[in-house]
Amino acid sequence: MATPTPAADLPSRPLTILSEEEEMFRDAVGQFAREQIQPHVRAMDEESKFRPDILKQMFGLGLMSIEIPEELGGQGGTFFQSVLAIEEIAKVDPAAAVIVDVQNTLVINALLRWGTEEQKRRWLPRMARDTVASYALSEAGSGSDAFALTTRAVQVGDEWRLTGRKLWITNAAEAGLFLVFANANPEQGYKGITCFVVERGAKGFTVGRKEDKLGIRASSTCELILDDCVVPAADVLGEVGKGYKIAIETLNEGRIAIGGQMVGLAQGALDHALAYARERKQFGKPIAEFQGVQFDLAEMATGIEAARLLTYNAARLREAGRPFLTEAAMAKYYASQVAEDVASRAVEVLGGVGFTKDYPVEKLYRDAKIGRIYEGTSHMQRLTIAKQILR
Ligand SMILES: Cc1cc2nc3c(=O)[nH]c(=O)nc-3n(C[C@H](O)[C@H](O)[C@H](O)COP(=O)(O)OP(=O)(O)OC[C@H]3O[C@@H](n4cnc5c(N)ncnc54)[C@H](O)[C@@H]3O)c2cc1C
Repeated sequence: MATPTPAADLPSRPLTILSEEEEMFRDAVGQFAREQIQPHVRAMDEESKFRPDILKQMFGLGLMSIEIPEELGGQGGTFFQSVLAIEEIAKVDPAAAVIVDVQNTLVINALLRWGTEEQKRRWLPRMARDTVASYALSEAGSGSDAFALTTRAVQVGDEWRLTGRKLWITNAAEAGLFLVFANANPEQGYKGITCFVVERGAKGFTVGRKEDKLGIRASSTCELILDDCVVPAADVLGEVGKGYKIAIETLNEGRIAIGGQMVGLAQGALDHALAYARERKQFGKPIAEFQGVQFDLAEMATGIEAARLLTYNAARLREAGRPFLTEAAMAKYYASQVAEDVASRAVEVLGGVGFTKDYPVEKLYRDAKIGRIYEGTSHMQRLTIAKQILR
């Protein structure tokens, strides 16, 4: 008779079926995160800075080039593997996870899908080697209403000149390449939006102020200033006027990975809560023996598994070329709700020490909030879900 899985193994060994290769990949990423990132998480959060040596290791391990084909220097991996990597890293540090997220599921994803062969050969090997990338859509006046962006693109001979300001751009402090969305034909509304690949050193391009944030503090979030910024005509990604399609489609996919980030964050918080509950004694026994605490832990584990299944299912649908819009929105919406709830309850399981910076759950609680904001707020996810189910 098969030995039943011990209950204590459930959180870090979810029941969800993965292939042997996926399991090995997940475990290798998890080991790297625990051994190399974990010791520095608190300091990076306090200093609001991601360590360059860890970034270098992430490049070395191929975590910044998961889906780039091997002949272009990448890992030749899958979208599902990107989601797994983001989940594993987020267990330890959701700030590190979002660096991997933007690189893989937004920028590499867009270049693979819309780049010409020449563009792929020019940019992807650099991104596999050492170049971080950013995805610049949002502006001060255009967040949820992203297509109200006012950055303008004007063609001058065989160059474009971009003028405007982008806000909230993840990875901008470290990035060498930026996908920038600007409107080349405002009279056409969103049908003027065009995607440009901008080099950090481009004339008229500056990375501006860095935000001082509640959570994911080690991940940089900066303003971009484009002042008649010069971009060669050859650096338009996809067609002029089709940037809106690139934005919609990459964000639909990217939000599955944010689901993965939130699942990982929640799992990390639960793992800390479980370890503490087994050790901490009150009334002469470990608090894990009190049914009230057990029920909390059981509900946390159930929420995480549900969010994980939604996320994996959306990722599998995307990989199978099947429609996944509703499932992706559900995964991000639900996983970010679970992450906030689980992290909050983990703080409570740890009692007073959970509220201090001596234990990691306080940071995970702060980090969880972003899941309901970026790559489409929870309101916008519910609008998408409602629109689909009411069709
Ligand atoms: C840490 C961080 C990193 C980010 N990284 C990036 C990045 O790399 N690239 C990038 O382009 N952007 C990035 N963003 C921007 C992010 O995507 C936006 O903040 C987000 O889309 C929300 O836009 P907003 O902040 O303008 O809020 P608003 O759109 O002004 O929303 C404010 C509130 O109104 C609600 N609301 C708005 N419209 C509706 C509606 N129709 N129905 C119901 N409720 C509505 C929202 O849900 C929200 O609660 C980042 C943001 C943060 C905080």
